[in-house]
Amino acid sequence: MHQEKIFENTEIAFALKSKQELSKAHFMFRMMGNATLVKVGSFLTSKSLELGLPVKGLIKKTIYSQFCGGETEEDCIPVIKRLFDKGVSSIMDFSVEGKASEADFDAAMNKKIELVHFAQANTEISLLAMKPTALGRFALWQKVSEDKSLTEDEKAEWERVVNRFDAICKAAYEAKLRVLIDAEETWMQDAADDLVELMMKRYNKERLTVYNTLQCYRWDRVDYLKGLHERAKSEGFKLGMKIVRGAYMEKERERAEEMGYKSPICEDKNATDRTFNDALSYILDHTEDISVFVGTHNEDSSYLAMKLMADNGLPPNNNSVWFGQLYGMSDHISFNLAKKGYNTAKLIPFGPVKEVIPYLIRRAEENTSVSGQTGRELTLLSKEMKRRQKE
Ligand SMILES: Cc1cc2nc3c(=O)[nH]c(=O)nc-3n(C[C@H](O)[C@H](O)[C@H](O)COP(=O)(O)OP(=O)(O)OC[C@H]3O[C@@H](n4cnc5c(N)ncnc54)[C@H](O)[C@@H]3O)c2cc1C
Repeated sequence: MHQEKIFENTEIAFALKSKQELSKAHFMFRMMGNATLVKVGSFLTSKSLELGLPVKGLIKKTIYSQFCGGETEEDCIPVIKRLFDKGVSSIMDFSVEGKASEADFDAAMNKKIELVHFAQANTEISLLAMKPTALGRFALWQKVSEDKSLTEDEKAEWERVVNRFDAICKAAYEAKLRVLIDAEETWMQDAADDLVELMMKRYNKERLTVYNTLQCYRWDRVDYLKGLHERAKSEGFKLGMKIVRGAYMEKERERAEEMGYKSPICEDKNATDRTFNDALSYILDHTEDISVFVGTHNEDSSYLAMKLMADNGLPPNNNSVWFGQLYGMSDHISFNLAKKGYNTAKLIPFGPVKEVIPYLIRRAEENTSVSGQTGRELTLLSKEMKRRQKE
């Protein structure tokens, strides 16, 4: 069957952008395509903020407005309403990183619970996202993953992590919302997988509340998925899986090399793509038990998901399949999917300018390769700018 190339439609992709906003986005991606500029810019930005120089306004008008919804959830309301008007839902993500005290972990939990209530009041928000290490020390997650015995203090600390996790999932369950739990580094992930599974047993019985994340750059993930599916069937809980490729490849490979164990990462990009496709096709063959959130900026993966849905007789708006991209990236995928009726959401980071800088620097660094994502964004933006000139 010939598949319509819907992602080429830039009129739909950028319908929300004025001419001026298109030029601004084009300028931003062009700047980010320059690796030296990104390096120097990232350094200067962090330093200036540290020294209290008045750069906040400039950052806010440029890279911040490209990738973030606002400083508070209320600031994000105009953004989420504009997206929803085009059929795209929002996932709010309070992107404050690098906090590591018990008070910070409690504050992160309280913020997520506040967001559950905010989402209840704003139906444009369909899902929530959360990162395990925002709720407890990384080293503790690692120790639990490694099955090492904990001291009495650590046992109490771990219990607090479990309770925070539970409080958020319970609040989401009561509000009839869904929560996507991020996957992180392999050396802490076993503890997260076990805890997410426990949450699924608690809150995914009568309806779906909790999704785990499958990082398809890991060669062991399809087996993990199949095992989890078997347990879900035998124990009577619904399975939600966010599938992504994975964000920590270099770190994973370096650690495996340094410590002399087999790398948990697929040998090359093709192998990762195959794992992603296998996971996607397994899930879409079993949508009676498994719901999926396809988190990708890859056009082929998105087309494949659409095709497999059609092959399995699932209409675009079937609630067991959602697509998601980051705010500020791959609008051609998000808005064209939504236009065709697919469930689509943007992950919208928000938070005070100073606090989201690490997130913004990561986005800029990720976009430095002009051959990849940036090149594609630039081509699409230019195409739309030219199309409008002819209007
Ligand atoms: C909504 C959303 C949620 C996300 N949540 C998470 C999360 O919870 N955890 C997480 O880790 N990431 C998460 N990500 C990031 C994601 O894992 C990818 O890093 C990112 O989306 C790029 O992959 P892609 O499928 O969009 O595109 P592509 O450009 O097709 O793929 C790039 C990815 O392929 C893999 N890859 C590249 N080169 C190689 C190679 N040589 N060998 C093996 N693999 C290779 C890497 O994973 C790389 O990131 C999320 C992304 C989105 C959009």
